[in-house]
Amino acid sequence: GFRMGIVGLPNVGKSTLFNALTRTAAAQAANFPFCTIEPNVGEVNVPDKRLDVLAEIAGSQNIIPARMTFVDIAGLVKGASKGEGLGNQFLANIRETDAIAHVLRCFEDGDITHVEGRVDPVADAEVIETELMLADLESIEKRRANLVRKLKGNDKEAQQQERLLAAAQAAIEDGRPARTVEVDAEDLKAWKMLQLLTSKPVLYVCNVNEEDASKGNAFSAAVEKMAAEQGAGTVLISARIEEEISQLDAEEAEMFLGEMGLEEAGLDRLIRAGYDLLHLETYFTVGPKEARAWTIKQGTAAPQAAGVIHGDFERGFIRAETIAYDDYVSGKGEQGAKEAGKMRAEGKSYIVKDGDVLHFLFNT
Ligand code: GDP
Repeated sequence: GFRMGIVGLPNVGKSTLFNALTRTAAAQAANFPFCTIEPNVGEVNVPDKRLDVLAEIAGSQNIIPARMTFVDIAGLVKGASKGEGLGNQFLANIRETDAIAHVLRCFEDGDITHVEGRVDPVADAEVIETELMLADLESIEKRRANLVRKLKGNDKEAQQQERLLAAAQAAIEDGRPARTVEVDAEDLKAWKMLQLLTSKPVLYVCNVNEEDASKGNAFSAAVEKMAAEQGAGTVLISARIEEEISQLDAEEAEMFLGEMGLEEAGLDRLIRAGYDLLHLETYFTVGPKEARAWTIKQGTAAPQAAGVIHGDFERGFIRAETIAYDDYVSGKGEQGAKEAGKMRAEGKSYIVKDGDVLHFLFNT
């Protein structure tokens, strides 16, 4: 599954957000009970109204949403890259994530200490980014030193690593995170394997007070400006509101959101932004037993999409019977879509589209 790490300075609202994310009624609903894998790791359902619509049409007994993992990575402070505080442990935690949600304190509250003694989310973002860049620099230098011997032979893999590490080092020494390095398609796999902390895509989460939840404030505006310059995404959230919503049932939550002038829970927006950030999309399998959402990378071909369900589906792939979501809905189900000529048989080279309802045929 996909893992998103929640980072930020102390007292910015990370734990509040993490707890709301993983304890929300939506996370506990459906077939997967909320599970805490470790105290700081939680799985959540990916909200998708289309799945409910499909299940309703097909009369599916079970609804199984896609899942996403969040990791609360506490302890990032100035000096972390030097192993102060929780140092290395959380750096290792960050390495294992696919993307980073960077929570920034965009609220003033005299009762809650700010570690740097002032509220300045843009400066906070720089503090964290600097720590991550320093940690990357250290690991890059170590790895390049280890490569020297291999490079004397004609080791192609070592040459590729050396080239990528040198590019990352140049960017960081220039004050830019590794994610600003442009990587060719044929290098992408090796690049990911380097697991550089600053190569992960970043989403800035502006945590604001309740009254600023719908429109934001000067702090969140400053973060949005910074994010735009970096080509990063932002999500406006009030962790305190999310905390309250997480204790309500769906109907109460909707009313509460309305009162706050919000259309959708911030957590739903956060999860969706994570999907966009990671270039993920969803396809569905729908039947009387269950309606289920599956997550794939954009641009995934049908056999690999089938492989998400089971390796045998990929190995023995014959074809995918495909109905676009809208066609499934307007046909009021598979039969109607079929009669309207909207069910297609797609082969191995078919690139699955977001919202496709698929049925795989395969050899065993
Ligand atoms: P962490 O150290 O980043 O995990 O921060 P916590 O989630 O533990 O939050 C630190 C304190 O800030 C707690 O007392 C929270 O209730 C409070 N807090 C979190 N979000 C907000 C907010 O949006 N506004 C205000 N005023 N307080 C908040």
